[in-house]
Amino acid sequence: MLNIVIFGAPGSGKGTQSARIVEKYGLNHISTGDVLRAEIKNGTELGKTAKGYIDNGQLIPDALMIDILASVFDSFKDSKGVIFDGFPRTIAQADALKAMLKERGQEVSVMLDLEVPEDELMTRLIKRGQECGRADDNEETIKKRLVVYHSQTAPLIDWYKKDGKYCHINGLGTMEGIFADICTAIDKL
Ligand code: ATP
Repeated sequence: MLNIVIFGAPGSGKGTQSARIVEKYGLNHISTGDVLRAEIKNGTELGKTAKGYIDNGQLIPDALMIDILASVFDSFKDSKGVIFDGFPRTIAQADALKAMLKERGQEVSVMLDLEVPEDELMTRLIKRGQECGRADDNEETIKKRLVVYHSQTAPLIDWYKKDGKYCHINGLGTMEGIFADICTAIDKL
């Protein structure tokens, strides 16, 4: 199986590029943000818990996310592969993902880090907030999410470098150009 982690700050384009990867390579998309938004929409207990964290720009606790991830991943077993979008976001989640895949005789194939400058992230997220009405895409929450990204999520860059899975992608440019760079990285696998 291909197990691709797509990584980057909020607004780096993980969701957009994941959709293209899914279409071209026939992979399954696991977006933890989408899973949580669906729970919120359906008014489940999990959704109620998640909403409090998301609206405040915070991460959902690791133990909860790790359980969710394992059950979603198992629903795709024996498929061509999976793209992890929005997971892992902490070192504990990266450790858990590695252990979970190992138990299933799998490993992460590559971690694609979409790098985008901070001012561009702000512009994109504010625009998305205005267009899609996503409650967490307002200036105050975006700033909190970026702080959380730098403190809790960015350390994963070194974690994946040490694990030998890191691949840098320039996340600035046309969507086609960025996707072409992603395909070059995937085709090497
Ligand atoms: P994109 O690059 O697609 O714009 P994003 O970072 O803006 O991504 P999502 O990935 O959709 O947004 O995540 C939205 C929110 O859901 C996060 O701010 C966080 O509160 C919660 N969340 C999603 N994934 C996780 C996770 N793995 N661990 C903890 N919380 C998570």
